[in-house]
Amino acid sequence: MLDHLFDTLLISDEEFGAMAAELAGAYPGLVRLEEIGKSQEGRPIRLLTVTEFSSGEEKPALFIQGTIHSKELSGTLAALDVARRLAADHIPGGILSRAVFYIMPRCNPDGAHRMATCPGDERSSWGDYTDTPNGIERCDLDGDGLSKMMLVEDPDGELCFSPKHRLCLVHRTENDKGPFYKQMPEGILHNFDRATLSNWPPFAREYLDWNRNWPGRWGKEQFGCGSAPLSVPEVRIQHDWITAHPNIKAAIALHNGYGSFMLPSVRQEDEEYVKSIGSRGETLIGYPALYGDIMFASDAQKPSLGKFDDYCYSEQNMLCVTIELGTRENSAGADTRELFHRQDAYSAPWEVVEQQDAHPELPRCIFEWKEFEHPQLGKVLLGGSCPTLFASPLLDHLEKVSAGVYQFTLGFAIDFLNGRGVGRAKEI
Ligand SMILES: [Zn+2]
Repeated sequence: MLDHLFDTLLISDEEFGAMAAELAGAYPGLVRLEEIGKSQEGRPIRLLTVTEFSSGEEKPALFIQGTIHSKELSGTLAALDVARRLAADHIPGGILSRAVFYIMPRCNPDGAHRMATCPGDERSSWGDYTDTPNGIERCDLDGDGLSKMMLVEDPDGELCFSPKHRLCLVHRTENDKGPFYKQMPEGILHNFDRATLSNWPPFAREYLDWNRNWPGRWGKEQFGCGSAPLSVPEVRIQHDWITAHPNIKAAIALHNGYGSFMLPSVRQEDEEYVKSIGSRGETLIGYPALYGDIMFASDAQKPSLGKFDDYCYSEQNMLCVTIELGTRENSAGADTRELFHRQDAYSAPWEVVEQQDAHPELPRCIFEWKEFEHPQLGKVLLGGSCPTLFASPLLDHLEKVSAGVYQFTLGFAIDFLNGRGVGRAKEI
């Protein structure tokens, strides 16, 4: 079943729909596919219900959310993998006779489709155009099907090529002789003004992060939060659906940050359970557990607002574990804790470029820089990383991580079936 699941990350909406339908068709007594609403571009928001239907659906449930962030396509694969393993491993009297798994592998179908069909960089979606000068809008300029990075040579540029690797840039120092560059995404500039072009110009359109749009701990000061809690239609649909299913006892959100197991800040009475869940995740998945509000060392001390895990805890009285399935850096052997503490947002991805050089048979996520005649900027260089490809682990690595996610999912459900957990998980 779904034999080619881990063959490619880049699954269009139609392909995803076909895979979900294949799974439901193969296990009619155990898997149901439904559409809980439509995306802003009219795509189905698909949900898989996995349980033993013959023993009813009024059972405690676990909710799994994947790919709320457009370029984090691994979540779709890992969620489908959990669904197929649950069905394939079913035995009478097993977990599916006692629990329901609601699995939404792709809660942002439009964004995921955009990144699967033209891999680039997008958080969740874009709002209206702003009138800022030099607003960058990503696209594929050179027709290779990817949106990568763009370098504009400029005597005032802050970056130069690293002497250590031909693909990597570093901040210039007094001793560097140039050439110097400004870096930005491969794309077109709105309200173009060459004289004021900065390194990494602002986005041309409002940046929306659907994992900052949830009520409970929402705040206007949060970048990407949207105009109000639940202002994103797809987030509202998901919220309404969750609220209509009070049998849900806990949740898992699948993302593609540095491989880790993230647990929200909780009240003291829940800390012991949350710590036990964290160490279980470390054992099963092999990534470190991180507790509370995690931030990059370079960020100010401010927690992110409007996240789904905080919403689950404060508004739905249940625990949501966020599993960061990892990036190419993790597949290249970089350590998550160390990655979080790299001070410089421009830190060159040494491990990845070295792995690519040593293993040319592996799919690339960082590309050679090539000259291109840009319609506004003249001669530029296109190349470097493609963020969608960079954001996911190598697929054989992802397959191993997903197997751990499945084992974790089972244990999380067994906990609430035994009245163990946080909040409503104890009300069995
Ligand atoms: Zn994410």
